[in-house]
Amino acid sequence: MSERVREGIVAPTGLIAHGRGEAFDYLLGERTTENARRAELTAAAMLIDANRPVISVNGNTAALCSEGIVALAEAVLARIEVNLFHRTPERVEKVCALMEAAGAKELLGRQPDATLPGIASDRAVCTRAGILSADVVLIPLEDGDRAEALAKLGKKVIAIDLNPLSRTSKAAHISIVDELTRAVPGIAAEVPELRRNGNRRLALMNSFDNARNLEEAMAIMCGNLRAAGEGKA
Ligand code: ATP
Ligand code: MG
Repeated sequence: MSERVREGIVAPTGLIAHGRGEAFDYLLGERTTENARRAELTAAAMLIDANRPVISVNGNTAALCSEGIVALAEAVLARIEVNLFHRTPERVEKVCALMEAAGAKELLGRQPDATLPGIASDRAVCTRAGILSADVVLIPLEDGDRAEALAKLGKKVIAIDLNPLSRTSKAAHISIVDELTRAVPGIAAEVPELRRNGNRRLALMNSFDNARNLEEAMAIMCGNLRAAGEGKA
């Protein structure tokens, strides 16, 4: 990651966010929990049934998981939009080039032509063909302001965020509390079977309760801490 900061792909604040993620992953036990797996299954169902799914990619996501994102986008027929929090033309180009080197085609984001209502201008920038007209948006490692703005616009929001307390996790319809490089292939792996089973997709989406999902993730973290405090881990 620090190499990606030197290259100008990850913003310095992105490195701090990465460290926050590592701390929460420690509490989780650095593994995909059953709870996260259910969220990943439900996310796969929602992406398959979406009309205009978009995966939003920032510097951290591109640095950690460019090929995984491209594979997932192909599996669920989603567009990829590069959308940076700390936006400069140079960084946009570098992140776009990294995604294209990983195989991304018809990438969106080099020329934003729309703004999301309700947030400060820099973060509001997006594309009409992508995030603005999407019905389902997957936002890995997103900031709370944008997650809330997307949800307010009526979009179904799927977050990947190791912090179950973040505003992003709370604003999303499905919050996947798992590390990015486990979560993205975890979603993609469910797609072939779920694609054949519309009833299962519907059942997964109807039974998913994000508030309960986040409570379970926090209970797992608390349990791990308690076990360690009692000398059991
Ligand atoms: P809020 O949503 O309240 O604004 P925040 O200010 O912490 O939270 P960001 O600064 O954008 O939001 O941080 C992005 C989030 O991504 C953090 O909550 C962090 O825990 C999480 N995160 C960082 N690295 C990873 C990773 N590799 N996998 C999953 N989540 C990660
Ligand atoms: Mg924030």
